[in-house]
Formats: sequence, C-alpha cells, structure tokens
Amino acid sequence: MNDSLQESAEPPSNNDLGLIEIQLGTDVTEEIPFSKTEIPSSDFDIINPVTSAFRKKFFPLATDKQWNSWRWQIQNSYSSFKKLSEILDLENIDDVDFLAKSRKLPLRITPYYASLLYGTPNNYALTKSVVPSKLELIVSPEEESDPLHEESMCPVYNLVHRYPDRVLLLSTGFCSVYCRYCTRSHMVLKDKKHYGVKAWENSIEYIKNNPQIRDVVISGGDPLTMPDKHIEFLLSSIRAIPHVEIIRIGTKVPVALPQRITNNFIKMLKKHSPLYMSIHFIHPDEITAEVSEACSRIANAGIVMGSQTVLLKDINDNVETMKELMLKLLKNRIRPYYIYQCDPIPGSSHFRTPVAKGLEIIQGLRGFISGYAVPHYVIDTPGGGGKIPLLPEYYLGRDGDYILIRNFEGNTYKYYDPVK
Ligand code: SF4
Repeated sequence: MNDSLQESAEPPSNNDLGLIEIQLGTDVTEEIPFSKTEIPSSDFDIINPVTSAFRKKFFPLATDKQWNSWRWQIQNSYSSFKKLSEILDLENIDDVDFLAKSRKLPLRITPYYASLLYGTPNNYALTKSVVPSKLELIVSPEEESDPLHEESMCPVYNLVHRYPDRVLLLSTGFCSVYCRYCTRSHMVLKDKKHYGVKAWENSIEYIKNNPQIRDVVISGGDPLTMPDKHIEFLLSSIRAIPHVEIIRIGTKVPVALPQRITNNFIKMLKKHSPLYMSIHFIHPDEITAEVSEACSRIANAGIVMGSQTVLLKDINDNVETMKELMLKLLKNRIRPYYIYQCDPIPGSSHFRTPVAKGLEIIQGLRGFISGYAVPHYVIDTPGGGGKIPLLPEYYLGRDGDYILIRNFEGNTYKYYDPVK
C-alpha cells in the first residue's frame, strides 16, 4: 500500500505558531502545546464502553490520563492510510493506493472519533464523512475551491467581511478531523498550520477600525485546536473592542475531540461572555456520553450553542436521521441552527443531494417536532451571495381578502388578510 498521503503530517508545534512568544510575552513558553512527552493532567474522565473497548485493543498502553488528554488525542491521530488500515478494511472501502498518490484534502481522525468507526460496515455514515474516497477525484462542473468567494471578500488576510455588521476571522488551518466535504478545504490543505498572533494583528486592527462590526465569528480550520493561551489572546483582544457585542466560535472539536473541553478551558472561555458556539454535527451517532459531557460543560458556562449540519447524501439525507439528530441536540441544550446544502467544492458531488431532499427533510420536521428543533435549511450561494433560506411551500396564494396557507399535515386553511 502506498502511504505517502500525509504520512509526515505532524500536529502543530510552537514553531508553527509564528511570533506568538514575542506577542504574548514569556508565560506562553511554559506551555508546550503538543509536546511528545508531557501530557498535562485533564479533568475530562468519561470513556464510553465502545470507545473503551477500542482503546484496550488498539492503544493498550495508553493510560486514562493520556486518552483523556486532547493533546494526546491529536498526537495519536490517524493521519495515514497505513495506520488507518489497522482499524478499517480500507481495501474494501476504496482504491487506497490510488488515493494515497492523489494528495487531496489531508486525512486526520482522532483516536476517539476513530473508535466510533471501528467494527461498523464499510458504508457507515461517520466513516464516509472522514475517510477519503476515490470519488473525491471527480471534479464536476460548477465546483471550485473557494465556492463562496470568501477570498475576494477579505479586506485583510483571512478576515471575511460579507455581511454589514459581522465578520468571519479564519484563525487557523488545522482541524481535529478533516471532513471530506469541507467548504474551507482550500484552507485546511496543509494540516500543519496554526496561523499565530502575527497573522491576526491586521484582523484585530480592522475590527477596531470598523465600528459597524457587532459580531465576530472565529472559525478556521478549527479554532479550538489551538492552545488555551492563543485562544484567550484572540478572545480578549476582540472583547476589548467596545463595539463588538458578541463573539461566536465555529468548531467541530466538541464532537471529534470532546476531551478538549476541560473545566479550566471552560473557565477561561466564561470570562469572555457573551460567547456563542456553532458546533458542526452531522449525525445522531456523534452524540456520545463524552460529547454530552462536553456540551453540558459549555452550556453550564452560559455559552449559547447552536448546531450546523451539512446535508450529505447517504449519510444524513433522510427525515428519520435528521429528526433523531435534532432532538438529541435539543436535549443537550444545543439549538439546531442550520442545515446547509453541501457546498460545491472540487470532488464533492457524491455528497450532494438535490435541493428537493433538503425541503423534504424540513417538511418532515416542521410541525412533527418542537419548532426549537427545526433548523433553517440554507444554500450558501456560490459566488458570495450569502446564506439564502429555503422553505417548503406553505403559502399557496390569495383568495380575495384571505390568504391560503398549508399546514404540516397538508391541510389548507384561510387566513383573513384584507387587501387594503
Ligand atoms: S472541522 Fe470544519 S473546517 Fe475542519 S474539515 Fe471539518 S468542516 Fe472543515
């Protein structure tokens, strides 16, 4: 098996973090974020039975302390086909030799997330979302590497200013797992990058100089893969800007690396309230005991959580799966926020469903479960038009002074709404 794809990928080290020491002073040097030897103690201590059996089989020497350390999880990620083939029957999943040569989006799966894939059928939903497939090499018309044209909306490096009162700060190119359909695949291609403080300076300055910005979204890559002190630097710098009212963090870490959500980390986040977190879930099987604990810690800190879900063919494109996901999210105090139509990045056509499928799912949710559990279905328009919500047809037209509307059961009703 050719194993060249990302065989050499290493997690970010302080060296990858640019001028962080100069910018933050001396105490940052005390923290060696991804040291091979030092595993600081973690207060995360939940291991579900499936994950526990997996650990015993594939990481028999890992202590509880190591397993529950997010740094250990990143250090021991599955980032090569060779290592991944120890737990998955890759030969039966796809043409691995061919894929290994292609050097497309990097491969990274935390041992924790890998434990959810082990022992499942080859076409298991979570496996398809993070394990490369030869289908990624088929580029269809209309697909492009930056379909939302975010780069053209960056007044400074990695700060997207699309909407009047809010900006998106792309803080890092590193993730704990690489989702095969990622909109920002052009950013996360290198797998080794935390951009560091130097790269954020211009963004912070831009936000300071634009008083209409009320809302800053910190995304990436995944910002929660950065060391605490770097996240704190970013949060406190933005929080110090008087006109910024809320800060949002976009992340998949509570799902793929729940061990990251330690009490100390939460204590730090809490200082920067009001904070929102948009968490990327795709399937109800992602909500394990570990993920529930991580989300409970986040909610208890007063951080408002919303979910973002990409609609994915043969992964979550049916009403029952989405219903189960949305209800589980709500139970975990996460408000279902968006279902996205899968963006047309190169090699993603096997993930995309017809838009009619998304509408069918919303129709199957609305009225059947609490309105709190029904997200907006949106297309983030290629070319940079922003998110456009789509709804099934509930408004049927007008009959004189009445409008005709249809309920969730398909019955038509009249509502008095005189034409003045
Ligand atoms: S975690 Fe987010 S940024 Fe990272 S690969 Fe997945 S979708 Fe892309």
